[in-house]
Amino acid sequence: MTPAISKLIFVALVIGWYLIRYEYARRSRREKIVSSARGPLETALLLISLSGLGLVPLVYVATAIPRFAACSFYPSFGWLGFFFAIAALGMFHLTHRALGRNWSISLDVRENHELVSNGIYRRIRHPMYSAFWLWAIAQALLLPNWVAGFAGLTGFGILFFGRVAREERMMLETFGDSYRAYMERTGRIFPSIL
Ligand code: SAH
Repeated sequence: MTPAISKLIFVALVIGWYLIRYEYARRSRREKIVSSARGPLETALLLISLSGLGLVPLVYVATAIPRFAACSFYPSFGWLGFFFAIAALGMFHLTHRALGRNWSISLDVRENHELVSNGIYRRIRHPMYSAFWLWAIAQALLLPNWVAGFAGLTGFGILFFGRVAREERMMLETFGDSYRAYMERTGRIFPSIL
């Protein structure tokens, strides 16, 4: 494992994520939205997360900027990052497959929205966010730069903590007791052990 390969793995992670998401995003555009929690806060959170997981690290991979934040590269970190990246992509695939037409980039309720509580959603309420956490950890391990490496954890962390409670409130308003029961048997990003 070299720094160059490690950076390539990060780029492959971004491309892999885009390829998995593209088809679902295209299909979900056809599904009517009946209510939404979109607004300036959601837009700001999305932009922060997109910068942290994508823009900042990709600028670093292309230019080595910000140079002042360069740090040492350890091959073992690179390997570990590779395994986290594979796990993130595997989880993205499973979550998109399970959510299907109910997926949205933001907080929307679609016409005939179904509460998904099987597959990867059986024990975890927000497995897609678990996948983004895995991505952010992979990024910190793969990119030997304090700013670019940790931008993902910071950027996605802000989105996660700014959004997850509002998302659960929206799900509770939509699905009532079924979501309440679902919350009791699941964990947010780790399976809750019954
Ligand atoms: N938080 C989830 C989904 C992220 S996508 C995860 O991390 O896996 C965001 C959209 O998913 C929101 O618009 C919300 O309406 C929808 N959503 C969240 N949980 C859901 C569930 N269990 N079943 C169906 N839709 C869900």
